[in-house]
Formats: sequence, C-alpha cells, structure tokens
Amino acid sequence: MKINLRTFIKHTSKDFHNRSVNPPVVRTSTIIFKNLQEIEKTQKKYLKDPRSRNFSYGRQGTPTTYELQQTLTKMEECYKVYLTSTGFGAVFLAVLSVVNPNDEILVTDSVYSPTRLLTHEYLKKFNIKSIFYDPKNFNDLKKKVTNKTKLIFVENPGSNTFEFQDLNKVISLAKKHKIYTAIDNTWGTPYLLKPIKLGFDMSIVSATKYYSGHSDVMGGSLAINKKVFKLIEATNNVAGLRLSPDDAYFILRGIRTLDVRIDKHHENALKIAKFLSKQKKVTSVYYPYKKNSQNYKLWKKYYSGASGLMGLKIKSKNKNSVKSFVNSLKLFGYGFSWGGFESLALYQNQKQLGKRSFTNLKNDEHIIRLHIGLEDPKDIIDDLKQALKKIK
Ligand SMILES: *Cc1c(COP(=O)(O)O)cnc(C)c1O
Repeated sequence: MKINLRTFIKHTSKDFHNRSVNPPVVRTSTIIFKNLQEIEKTQKKYLKDPRSRNFSYGRQGTPTTYELQQTLTKMEECYKVYLTSTGFGAVFLAVLSVVNPNDEILVTDSVYSPTRLLTHEYLKKFNIKSIFYDPKNFNDLKKKVTNKTKLIFVENPGSNTFEFQDLNKVISLAKKHKIYTAIDNTWGTPYLLKPIKLGFDMSIVSATKYYSGHSDVMGGSLAINKKVFKLIEATNNVAGLRLSPDDAYFILRGIRTLDVRIDKHHENALKIAKFLSKQKKVTSVYYPYKKNSQNYKLWKKYYSGASGLMGLKIKSKNKNSVKSFVNSLKLFGYGFSWGGFESLALYQNQKQLGKRSFTNLKNDEHIIRLHIGLEDPKDIIDDLKQALKKIK
C-alpha cells in the first residue's frame, strides 16, 4: 500500500504561487493586515477551525511551513501536524502536553537516550515518575500500568537494539485504561507506518533524518489525533517551538524523494544485513531480515518496508579491536544522526545507549550502529569485509 510521493505532493500544491514546481520560501515575523477588523477575523477563523491557516504572526507559520504541514497531515492521515525546530522538540511537545504533576509515564527501555533524559531526569522536578518497560515483553508493560499512568511512550523499533513491539496490543491496553499513547516513528516515517491511523494519539518524526535526507537541515513533526488536540495546542502556544520557512522548504523538497530513497536504503540494508549475519564475529544483526524471528514477524505485521538503520552486536574481549573495526571503515562517516544519503557508523558506548535495564550487555559484547546509505552495496560490503579483519 505504498504511495508515490511525486504524484501525492503535486496534488497538494497544484495552485501554488506562480506555478513554480516547489513552493517559495516565505519569511516573515510581522504579517500586515488591511485593518484591525481583519486581525480579529483571522484569529476568530482559526479558533473556529484549528486546522485552517493561521497567518497572524511568524511564530504561527508562513505559507511555506503551512504547505509542509498540509503534506504531512495527508501522509500521516491524522487530525493535525505540529512542526518543531528539531525532532527532539516534537518529543518535548508531545510529553509535556499531556503530563501533570504526580503522574506516571511508561517508557520503552530502548528509547532514544535524550528522551530517557527528558522523561527520567527532567520530569522529576514536576514529580512525574518514568518507569521503563521491556520492549520484548508485553506482559512487563502490562503489569507496570497503575491508576497513575498517564502516558505510554513507544519507540518502534527501539534505538540501537531495534526491538519491534506488538503495537496493537499497546494501543488496546492504553485505551482500556484511558492512557495516552505516543510513538517515535523516526525510523519508519509515515511512508512505512501510519501510527495515528493505527490508534496512537501522537506520533513523532525527526525531519532531520529521512525527510530531509541530505544531512543539512533539522526539524521535527508531531502528528496527533483529535483527542489530544486541545492539550497539544495549549502547550504549543507557550512553547515557542517553530520551524523556520527555509528549513521547511528543504524538508518539503526532501520528502518528494522520500519513498525512492527509503526503498533503496531498504534494498541496500537488507544485502548488508545478510552479509553481516554470516560473519563469525557478528553475533546479532538488529534488522528485520530473518524470516520467522519474532522481530521480523512484528515488523512485517505493521510496516510496508524498512529503512537503512541497523545495529550489530559484536563479541570480542578486545574492545579496542572493535573500535579499530569502526575506525577502519573507509566509506562510512563517524557522526551522530542518520537518514542522509551517506553511510555512517558509531560505536555505541554506555552514555549513548542510556542506563538501560533490559539490554544486558556482557563485558565482551559491543553494539555498533550502522546507517546504510545509498552507495553501491557491493562497495559497502567490501569495505565492511576489510574492516572486520581488525576484530580480535
Ligand atoms: C534523531 C532522533 C530524534 C531527535 O531528532 P533531532 O532532529 O536530532 O532533534 C528523536 N528520535 C529518534 C528515534 C531519533 O533518531
């Protein structure tokens, strides 16, 4: 059920300015109105229909950001999309909008480490307690629900270890107990998974990654259903989060080729995962490639494809030799973030993994994160082959 994004986006912007293919970048802080009555009219119209354009001040958006918002709302099949200056801004907006002092929130253990910092550390000052659950064990989540639970925060698949959860079960559990749900869908994007349609209240995507696709812009989106609209709107009005029109332009331009790029990332990553799975030194490949594995089945159940980010578990008593493997890769860059056209590699130390309870790494086990880019997969495999020799 995949869509072609060229056909899709063209339809949303058919009447755009002067018939240029891409929307122009409209930058402004002040909007000049004809008279005072027009200001009132604009504000009233937005209150009546909060999905309409709200061009009253630059913080509320400009025609460029509105165009991106519309495109994403259609892609997500959701009630409304909020744009933020980074992906993490969207995580912040989602969480802070629904929690109150004395609440508890349930967070998947393999969550993106800054999200762990926000929920586990920062929220303490509002007396909000975060409890981490095992993404591989639904019963662990189930037994941690209390009458104080306000939010279940899922990231699918998890960061670095890429566990897939049975999303329908999480949603049913939350609905039964009247708990809000949020999912970080940066790995799959709504091209591969539409969380709001599935029943989540909120869905986060870091636009920095695959939407932009070229590692030169940052942004985020929070897609929501109608149920949480008032809560998100109230927080968004005081959060000061805004995506710049220039960044919105680049993200919109990136989305036009999102499907083509993700399909190719998937094709390449699958080849690399199969190659790595045959290497003696690699004990696990965290990527949905092995039919009949639990992760594969859960991936297949919900996703229409896969992206290019994976993890590896390497067993070696010699940590430096594992680092030397990473350092010997010639095609891969070493750096944070991912989702661009280029391949990237990182050795994930304890700080990047976060203080997990359910990722039991032994002293001689190491996690490497690979982003498989759009290079020739044969070249990537050759590069990995020569570098793997370094592992002792
Ligand atoms: C990168 C990332 C984020 C944060 O996005 P930024 O745009 O870097 O702020 C959030 N969640 C996940 C899963 C990510 O990989």
